[in-house]
Amino acid sequence: MVSFNALSLLAAVAAASPIEFPGFPLIARQDIQTPINASLPNVTIFATGGTIASQGSSNTQTVGYSVGLGVQQLVDAVPEILNISNIKGYQISNVDSGSVNETISLKLAHMINEELAKDDVAGVVITHGTDTLEETAFFLESTVNSTKPVVCVGAMRPATALSADGPLNLLQAVTLAASPAGIGRGTMITLNDRIGSAFYTTKNNANSLDTFFSTEAGQLGFFINQVPYFYYAPSEPVGRVTFDISQVQDLAQVDILYSHQDMNPELFNASALLGAQGLVFAGVGAGGASRKASQAMEALYNATHIPIVASHRSSDGFVPSDPKDFTIASGFYNPQKARILLQLALTVGYSEEEIRAAFAKSYPIPA
Ligand code: ASP
Repeated sequence: MVSFNALSLLAAVAAASPIEFPGFPLIARQDIQTPINASLPNVTIFATGGTIASQGSSNTQTVGYSVGLGVQQLVDAVPEILNISNIKGYQISNVDSGSVNETISLKLAHMINEELAKDDVAGVVITHGTDTLEETAFFLESTVNSTKPVVCVGAMRPATALSADGPLNLLQAVTLAASPAGIGRGTMITLNDRIGSAFYTTKNNANSLDTFFSTEAGQLGFFINQVPYFYYAPSEPVGRVTFDISQVQDLAQVDILYSHQDMNPELFNASALLGAQGLVFAGVGAGGASRKASQAMEALYNATHIPIVASHRSSDGFVPSDPKDFTIASGFYNPQKARILLQLALTVGYSEEEIRAAFAKSYPIPA
């Protein structure tokens, strides 16, 4: 259990007003519209910031740069886009993606659903920092109510760098969003000539250009000469769960805890005390934790019945369900995606059994 002095400290922290950065993150609105060519499809770009919209002080700087380019500048840098589609652009935010928050995620989902409902819009592109790109992509995978292409794109080098990857990544993303071949595949992530599903694709390397892929489930497709090719006919991942968030204005708080040797078991209570309505832990192996941590989780669950999802800290594999276990097996969902699924399920009022079923859809059900 959490000791008394730790509890009093936590209570003081919880009572303190949450840290606010005035005016941060920036949510600017810069609508753009390129000249209309009636023979071309219409694609809408939602810009959020990230390295793709960043500038360094020299063309050899590839770390320590700052975000600031607007959606107009991103499009202007790739005039070839105008041979592919007409572009309308919105500047939703202009932040490093570590600062993308529920306000931005909900704004994106609401605006994208509204945009894709228009008959004359072929698809949408979201330009985004790569650090949390997979979270936004999975959030949209779970909340966009359309079969039209939704393509998330970023870059690993700032726009000012030698061999910047952003411009070609953006051209490929717009091409995919404009392409009928992209219909019916769920939200996609494309960088570095690869096309991946938002369901399985994750950022595997903190630094390298070639970092987004899913090793076990593989890629959906690739680009040759900026033309998208696919390995499969259009299909959606087994186990995809979607939520109607049209009336949702804020999301349940779900925290992730990272399991390791000698993990402090009091962290579970601490998270609940600080407002977590659900927990995900990045378990060792297939959702494992130390005996002390397991006992602390079980005590917390018995006292509060907040859902606790057991995920895996390894990049691949799945956590199978154990019916006698109080934790909920994450299946194939890694911790950051499990958090989003749990957050959405709690927000729309899923019961514990419905939450278990939502996760269980992602992995083979025992015969
Ligand atoms: N380095 C990150 C990027 O590649 C920064 C971010 O995620 O905003 O976009």
